[in-house]
Amino acid sequence: MQEPGLNEVDPKLAALIRAEETREADKLRLIASENYVSRAVLEATGSVLTNKYSEGYPEKRYYEGQQIIDQVELLAIERLKALFGADHVNVQPYSGSPANLAVYLAFCAAGDPVVGLALPAGGHLTHGWNVSITGKYFQSRGYGVRKDDHRIDFDEVRAIVREHKPKILWCGTTAYPRVLEFAKFREIADEVGAILCADIAHIAGLVAGGVHPSPIGIADVVTSTTHKTLRGPRGGIIMCKAEHAKAIDRAVFPGLQGGPHNHTTAGIAVAAKEAQSPDFKQYAANIVANAKALAEALLGQGFNLITGGTDNHLVLVDLTPKQIGGKPAAQALDRAGIVCNYNSIPFDPRKPFDPSGIRMGTAALTSRGMGPAEMQRLAGFMNRVVQAPDDGALLDRIAAEVKEMCSAFPAPGLPRA
Ligand SMILES: *Cc1c(COP(=O)(O)O)cnc(C)c1O
Repeated sequence: MQEPGLNEVDPKLAALIRAEETREADKLRLIASENYVSRAVLEATGSVLTNKYSEGYPEKRYYEGQQIIDQVELLAIERLKALFGADHVNVQPYSGSPANLAVYLAFCAAGDPVVGLALPAGGHLTHGWNVSITGKYFQSRGYGVRKDDHRIDFDEVRAIVREHKPKILWCGTTAYPRVLEFAKFREIADEVGAILCADIAHIAGLVAGGVHPSPIGIADVVTSTTHKTLRGPRGGIIMCKAEHAKAIDRAVFPGLQGGPHNHTTAGIAVAAKEAQSPDFKQYAANIVANAKALAEALLGQGFNLITGGTDNHLVLVDLTPKQIGGKPAAQALDRAGIVCNYNSIPFDPRKPFDPSGIRMGTAALTSRGMGPAEMQRLAGFMNRVVQAPDDGALLDRIAAEVKEMCSAFPAPGLPRA
């Protein structure tokens, strides 16, 4: 007799998964950190590799039975080394935040000075923001963007670094639509002997696809998530120069974590293989082309964009000219089948829980094969929504149009209707 599956064992949970599949199929998913993984990545991630404990590193484990797991981890490492051109890769961090914590543990003692991009300017919590452990356990200072053009203020970066003398200088962003100039950060880090860590969580797929400059060879350490533009399972990686390999590996295990999530490592290996293909280069280029098309279309509909456009996968919209806050706009858009998040804009006069902006990224729509024509339609939908955010009937009509549009672009990994 066959063992009962999820439908039989837990129909309630099975139904929730089916419902999420429907949501992901029928909506325009614009959260800049999200994507659709392939069916192959899903299969690897949902495999028996979740059953195995493997504390340590390949050929240096603390439990027996690693004949297969060592090969899985080495495959992921070798593929990522080839993909990014890195000396050393650690694939064990549970996600992006633990990857960053491991970097602190590798190079800092509690109370040491660190510098990163401030959260309101588009930085990540783990770059030393005060509510994060990284802001509580380290002496953190944040730099920002310029008032006039909202680009990173390298004069401020230099001034703060000279004064604060950080052990680690972070560069990397969650809501910055422009190219990161890693060499400028390198120069500044070198003035005080700081470790330069580039966190490419959002843009890893663009770097892998060759449409954003790579920090490899410039930064001492590069951290990333694997589930954003890179299109892998939820996870984290750390890449570094050979001289830092030991410190990084020791920080991840035994410093911070126990056993690695081998099913995730397997999914990362598959994603890295996919990312080596010529198709992925095209995919990365299409993400950026779509973001630029969306930016143009939004400007055409009277939206204001931070920095006036984009070089990468995301656009940060300032809703001020539309006379609506980020939160009510995001909620109305969600009802209309357009899923994004409210987001602070630089120097935001409004409060963080209802800021002036929304953030959108094109990685997921591009995974469905959508192109500039769909970006144009999307901008039109958005303009209708923000003009009448309380008109439930209108929002439902737009949601139906969105669903119709989505049905022509089946998403990777989802069952086909
Ligand atoms: C998403 C992100 C992270 C954190 O990743 P989690 O997997 O959510 O912990 C870290 N840094 C940057 C820049 C990010 O965008």
